[in-house]
Amino acid sequence: MKEKILLNEILLETTMSALRKKNFDVVCADTPQDALRILTETIPQDSSIGVGGSRTLDQISFFDTFNVQHYPNYIDRYEAGISAETKREREISMLSADVFVSSCNGISQTGELVLIDGNGNRCGGMTFGPKKRIVVAGVNKIAADLSAAMSMAQNRASVMNNLRFDTKNPCTITGRCMNCASTNRICNVTTILHRAAPAGSILVVLVKEDLGF
Ligand code: SF4
Repeated sequence: MKEKILLNEILLETTMSALRKKNFDVVCADTPQDALRILTETIPQDSSIGVGGSRTLDQISFFDTFNVQHYPNYIDRYEAGISAETKREREISMLSADVFVSSCNGISQTGELVLIDGNGNRCGGMTFGPKKRIVVAGVNKIAADLSAAMSMAQNRASVMNNLRFDTKNPCTITGRCMNCASTNRICNVTTILHRAAPAGSILVVLVKEDLGF
């Protein structure tokens, strides 16, 4: 629809401008394939690479390209058969990787990124440690301001993830976050990236299509 395309262009332009003023590097990808191309051109082959769980990365076929076969220092926390201890050790090593790649759950048109996480590994990797941090996000993640981005992250992304993992948490009944005390609550850490620090350490790849939730 013409209006949706026009709206997306406006959202992308205003958000990219706001993010750049806050020291984020930003590029726009036309398609998921284009986003993957940008990542392969940005991340050197010998980099150690950590990754946060992300439906968006699944959708751009990130894991078909970024794996130990193609990138020998890729840190694989999803390897079949590894113990919980090994998985935890790999998650910790991601916090000092050369590159950490993730999506986020909300982006404000005023230039902030919001992430919600179960145990903090993704929020940790995106805030401190890895020299380069890269966020891939679809245009659907853009909200008007920080408050709207926070609400989007909590009431849409978190609820969708609960439905995806069939957690039976209260939000899977109500369709919105109930700030529950469930033992299997999957959203325990919320991070706001107000600015990129140091400048240029975070690259945001904004895709002109809906990706993730
Ligand atoms: S805090 Fe609880 S109710 Fe809210 S989204 Fe997370 S699991 Fe669902």
